[in-house]
Amino acid sequence: MTQLFDRSRFMQSLTRQWQRLGLRDARDMTPHQWWHALSGALADMLADLPAHARSTPQRHVNYLSMEFLLGRLTGNNLLNLGWYDAVNDALKQWDINLSEVLECETDPALGNGGLGRLAACFLDSMATVGQPAIGYGLNYQYGLFRQRFVEGKQQELPDDWQRDRYPWFSHNAALNVTVGIGGKVINARWQPAFLLQGEAWDLPVVGFENGITQPLRLWQAKHAQPFDLQRFNDGDFLRAEQPGIDAEKLTKVLYPNDNHAAGKKLRLMQQYFQCACSLADILRRHHQAGHPIATLPDYEVIQLNDTHPTLAIPELMRLLLDEHQMDWEQAWQITRRTFAYTNHTLMPEALECWDVRMVRALLPRHMMIINTLNTQLKKQVDARWPGDDACWAKLALVHNNQLRMANLCVVGGFAVNGVAAMHSQLVVQDLFPEYHSLWPEKFHNVTNGITPRRWINQCNPALARLISDTLAQPWINNLDALQGLEAFADDADFRAHYRAIKQHNKVELAHWVLARTGIAINPEAMFDVQIKRLHEYKRQHLTLLHIIALWQTLVSDPQANLAPRVVLFGAKAAPGYALAKNIIYAINKVAHVINHDPRVGNRLKVVFIPDYNISVAERLIPAADLSEQISTAGKEASGTGNMKLALNGALTIGTLDGANVEIAEQVGSENIFIFGHTVEQVNALKAQGYAPAVWRKKDRQLDQVLKALEDGTFSDGDTHAFAELLHSLNAQGGDPYLVLADFRHYLKAQEQAETLWADQEGWTRAAILNTARCGMFSSDRSIRDYQQRIWQAER
Ligand SMILES: *Cc1c(COP(=O)(O)O)cnc(C)c1O
Repeated sequence: MTQLFDRSRFMQSLTRQWQRLGLRDARDMTPHQWWHALSGALADMLADLPAHARSTPQRHVNYLSMEFLLGRLTGNNLLNLGWYDAVNDALKQWDINLSEVLECETDPALGNGGLGRLAACFLDSMATVGQPAIGYGLNYQYGLFRQRFVEGKQQELPDDWQRDRYPWFSHNAALNVTVGIGGKVINARWQPAFLLQGEAWDLPVVGFENGITQPLRLWQAKHAQPFDLQRFNDGDFLRAEQPGIDAEKLTKVLYPNDNHAAGKKLRLMQQYFQCACSLADILRRHHQAGHPIATLPDYEVIQLNDTHPTLAIPELMRLLLDEHQMDWEQAWQITRRTFAYTNHTLMPEALECWDVRMVRALLPRHMMIINTLNTQLKKQVDARWPGDDACWAKLALVHNNQLRMANLCVVGGFAVNGVAAMHSQLVVQDLFPEYHSLWPEKFHNVTNGITPRRWINQCNPALARLISDTLAQPWINNLDALQGLEAFADDADFRAHYRAIKQHNKVELAHWVLARTGIAINPEAMFDVQIKRLHEYKRQHLTLLHIIALWQTLVSDPQANLAPRVVLFGAKAAPGYALAKNIIYAINKVAHVINHDPRVGNRLKVVFIPDYNISVAERLIPAADLSEQISTAGKEASGTGNMKLALNGALTIGTLDGANVEIAEQVGSENIFIFGHTVEQVNALKAQGYAPAVWRKKDRQLDQVLKALEDGTFSDGDTHAFAELLHSLNAQGGDPYLVLADFRHYLKAQEQAETLWADQEGWTRAAILNTARCGMFSSDRSIRDYQQRIWQAER
């Protein structure tokens, strides 16, 4: 039930906020102070709402994730509370425009990309569908770096997002926990070398118009004892300027890697700190509810978002064995019934392995427990595959002095899931076939989803209004209802209305792009959008090759019948990822030449929007016509950007990878542009010995495009400017992601897109069908799948 908005209570709260700033009148506040005061007032009101009565038999979910990529909270909370219009109205007495105030919020960017955003969407959906849950993560002082371009090159700036205290936080010192690190084990008891304090900083997660609020609890490290911890200062403490570490360093900064494990000691400490704080909190709540420890899995499930929180498994074992004096077998049964693990990748460089010596130095007791688990597992594996050393080499938890987190997750929990149908199949077939034959019942698929609250209702209000006016039923928390739009795809008036909304969003975006980048773009052109982390497997460089091909066509044939196009990129590269940075540089340099070429004019523009984040995504997605989802087949686990764009009526050009496969099934092959080698074809090509030079040789256009990158055309004659990019595509680099092999097919798919674009009625019809048929990609559906298949399943 929607919580009614109490206007006089709001006015009181707001007044207290500006009085606290020492102001005499609300009118003295700057826009930023307005945002702060408004958010603080709302947070106070939320804290006073009656707690949601919980007498459900459902298991409570603890969602452990090192990342939560939340995006701005104030506008989202207002919409979910159903208070947006009332607050908008209340602010009018000061001539304050609510949407301008909301623009003052800096994104909380405590995540890198899809994985962290998924965690944020799931919190929203758990609160909305009434799944009792707490999210557990870390309160990084600096979130993901901010990005700018200096002469086309990425430069990273610190993201000091909490600088002036984030008003949505609430802190309760009663929840503080103590965490040990280092030291030794004496008589099977751990004596840590030092202790850290974990402070709980809670953000409210507001369900959609249902009166439910539940916490996201972010841990912050404080007060190490003893203070001088020099021996842990191995230079990895983000260039520590003083000899000891202060505890605050531990949660100072989010590691900026996406799909890449770097093996840094501080990162391992962050992981353990998060696990230890969260488990202490979970056990405290369980105890306070009056339940005996042995019943933990009857009440609590711990969902591990990737392997980053794997250490929660040996930590629970340690607590049961050492703090609760449980015997090994019982502790193991409880542990195995408590954890469930979500796999997010098959790529070797992203599968976490930790050096055993590092783990032992930080966590000697945990390493003992893991070694015992490993010995037990060996017995099981030997019984099943006697004398098969190769099999054990794959299944061991510890092998060649490496601790493999994914294996520990599979062994230590009751469920493993992939994040899209195809990915879950590959998890079984390629990653864990032996584990699957041992425990087939553990393996599941739960296709990812996105919250329609943020990704339609908030970011595309005009489309939300059209849908509400068209459908005779609620749809924001029942996204399957979008099917009701299908009938309107053939209604010319509806198409005109739908197209006018897209056009309006494009005009708005064009204004914003001009203000932000100084580049004027034509809102009548096709907006071709590729927004996601920069990664070789995501193949932003394939898009770049297409852009160069378009430019060469326009220059050599001024009469060429090409649709006007604006290609928009948004992407951050991990600071240590040289190839990704070189791809950014190449795109920016090519963009510069094309955007200033008078022969091209308004027919092609390329814009790399700096500092891609949630708020930028919210602007780009409603204005996109074409959605680039072109990863090498088998490499993108699911993707969620693909879902956001399809729901907002962008047509996908994409490979049969991740959730693209399911999007294609939903929307129908005539409403999507699928191209490229399939997983099977990729494997076959690699098996026969893939040689990119052969593909270059047989395609003249491809050769011309690559030559333009080699000969300095885009780099003022500098033939080394794109060395990393070109190396990755040549015989030495080996083109590991088959860019050249998919080039021709990609260009054909782009031509198909152009053909449909020329028929605007046909295009709009396809766009409407994308919106109408993608209801299953609501994260509410994902959460219900988790409930049925994993969290609340009969055990
Ligand atoms: C949705 C989203 C992602 C994930 O995008 P993919 O295309 O699925 O990789 C990354 N970053 C931001 C800011 C997002 O909103």
